[in-house]
This record gives sequence, structure tokens and C-alpha cells, in this order.
Amino acid sequence: MIRHVRKKSTLLLIVALALSLLNNCRMNTETKNQTASPSPSKSSISDPLEIHRRAISIDMHADTTQRMYVEGLDINNRLPDGHLDAVRMREGGLDAQFFSIWVNPEIYGGGGPVAVKSADDQIRSVQELVKKHPDTWELAATAADIRRIVSGGKLAALMGLEGGYALDERLENVEKYYKLGVRYMSVTWSVSTNWAGSSGDSVGQSRGLNDFGRQVVREMNRLGMMVDVSHVSDRTFWDIVSTSSKPIIATHSNCRAIANVPRNLTDEMIQAVAKSGGVVCVVFFPEFLEPGWSQKRQQVDAQIAPLLRRASDAEAGDAAHKKVARDRVRIEEYARRLPPVTVSRIADHIDHIVKLVGIDHVGIGSDFDGVQAVPSDLSSVAQLPNLTVELLRRGYSEEDIDKILGGNILRVMEEVERR
Ligand SMILES: [Zn+2]
Repeated sequence: MIRHVRKKSTLLLIVALALSLLNNCRMNTETKNQTASPSPSKSSISDPLEIHRRAISIDMHADTTQRMYVEGLDINNRLPDGHLDAVRMREGGLDAQFFSIWVNPEIYGGGGPVAVKSADDQIRSVQELVKKHPDTWELAATAADIRRIVSGGKLAALMGLEGGYALDERLENVEKYYKLGVRYMSVTWSVSTNWAGSSGDSVGQSRGLNDFGRQVVREMNRLGMMVDVSHVSDRTFWDIVSTSSKPIIATHSNCRAIANVPRNLTDEMIQAVAKSGGVVCVVFFPEFLEPGWSQKRQQVDAQIAPLLRRASDAEAGDAAHKKVARDRVRIEEYARRLPPVTVSRIADHIDHIVKLVGIDHVGIGSDFDGVQAVPSDLSSVAQLPNLTVELLRRGYSEEDIDKILGGNILRVMEEVERR
């Protein structure tokens, strides 16, 4: 079945990309296979792009919404910076994107009308993108929608709430956001609420879900909204596990066994997600990939504090624009001062999850445009096939790759949609 309807120029691009990947792959196998497995056969070298494109690939988390909402950018065009737009999604063979509706509590508050307005406006930005470019995009609310949209050659846009701040502690708002198309919610971002503890602050260490938090999880189960455990504190995680009757997901978290940071999951947590029938989606941020990177990043942040202050002061816009200005400095300085990480490290986390709980419980959640550093060979979504090449090199089959890139998430969506 031909899933993608493409024009000739796009085909030429694909051929060019295939050739460059072929070279990359050869270089990788030449250097890495000296001590590892024998070189792959000719056919397996030429297969990666085809295998990658045949799969339905779904990225569970990108903050590109902020670029539309704060910077007013039209991501249908190729953007000169950042990590994701429609053009580079096509090049990288990414079919469906969950846009994060991230209400930054440090700017918009942890509740109240400003937080609610921020979430509503971000949802509107995604809806407007789709309305403005109906030939490229379509909003998806179900797994069946994704399959249909992708087989029609379009990109599927989906939404997830990052942090329950816009619920404003009102249970009825879960249904409000479900009706607006939101299909997952992480109960916190890096700031705890009264009803849920976060991994990002000290109060979260002793706080799980209270009664309201448990009601929120049950309401999500009832409606068919996936419960996301990325960002929550360990206590909140285990409270979610004991409350949710549906599979739970981590939209952008890695393994603490490799990179020991509170944002990542312990082996016991990964096993609990798998036991629920859910999926852990690996995130591409070096801090959550590479041991020690977090400490080095904190040192660099201290060194560049004056630069960040200067960028913030020079920006005349509001707090959100000042954050964009600081992040531009971080992107430059992190690239210069911090050790590079490659897709090989992402594959290490995938390997770890697969060894622990099997192939059915792993997916991808890039955090593109929400992080100030990405792997050197995954500098934008256009390079996503490099991950597939690495997985094939490690012996994953086409069926495995289908599951990792999106098949596992489609299964969870179908399960959660069932009332
Ligand atoms: Zn996040």
C-alpha cells in the first residue's frame, strides 16, 4: 500500500537523503563493527530509509507549539532554526506529532485565568496551523485518525497537556480539554501543584496525588485521555500506578539506570508502566541520555549566567520572549561547552527498556523545541532516520522498528479509547 502521496521533487530529496544516510551508515559500521557484529549485508544497508518510511512514526512530545504561540511562526515552512517544521517532518519521515500544550507556571502561574488562557491560546495555535494548511495537516484524536491521515499522505497533529495547571483545580476542565482534542496529560511539569508532586522541585519529593489528583486520573481514564508520568515525582508516579485502570505512558523520559536524574524512570517504574500495558517514550535531550551531562550543564549555566542576564535585559518583549532570548544563548553555549551525544546513546536507552520489559513498551518523545541541546546526529526531525539506522545496526527487525516508531503508541491509544 502506498501510504505517502509525493511529488517528484520530494522523491529526489528522499533519494539524496538516502545516499547521505547510506554513507553515514557505512561510516558507522566501518568504525563500530571493528569490535562488534559483522558488517550488515548489502540489502540491510540499503533498507533503513524504506523501513523507516513504511512505519507510522509518532513523536509523543514536542514544544514547537511555543514557537507558534510565542514567536508567531508558521511551522508549515522550513524554519532556519529550531528542530521541527512540516518540511523537515517530511524529510525525516515523521508522520504524527503530539504538540505539547505547555503552560509554563513560572510565567503563566500554576492555575487561574492566565494559565487557562495560555493553554486555550496554544490549542488555538495548533488548530489554526491545521486550518491554514489543510493540504499538509489534519487534526487527529484517535489511533484510527492517525492511520487514515497518514495513509492519505498528510501529517497528523495531536495535542497533550504538559502539566495540569490549566485545570485550575476543577475536575470538569479535564473534559473541557478532552473535547478540545487533548489526548494525554502529564499531571505536572517541573513545578508541583497542591494535588500532585513534581520531580522538579523539593516539595515533590514528599508529595504524591491527593484525593483531587486521584479523581483527575480516574476522569482521564473515563474519557480516554492517556495519563503521562513524565515530570511527576516518584510518589506521584506510584499513586498514578495504583489509581489508573488504563495503560499509562511516559511521553518523554529515559532510564535512570543509565542517566541518573529525577526526570528519568527507575527499572521498577519502567516495569510498572509495562505491566499497565503502557509505553516509555525515550527523549532526545542529552541531559536525560548521558551520565554526568546534567552536572556539567549546571556548571555551564553558572558560567553563562551573565550572558543569560544580558540577553534577557536586551529583549524588550514579555517574560515568554525573554525566555526565548535566553534559550538562544543556551543553545549556542551548550553546543560549544558541553560534550556531544549521538543517537547511539538513545539506542542504549531503548536497548535497556527492551531488555527489561520487551519490545512492546518503548516509543519516542523527542522534546524538540523544548530543549537547548539535541544529539549531534539528530539536530532536527529531518535526521530521525539516523535513529532507525542505528537500531537496524543493533539487530532490531522491521517489526520491532514499527513498534518503536509508533506501533506501540497506536496500541495504547486504541486501548485507552475503549470505554
Ligand atoms: Zn517536558
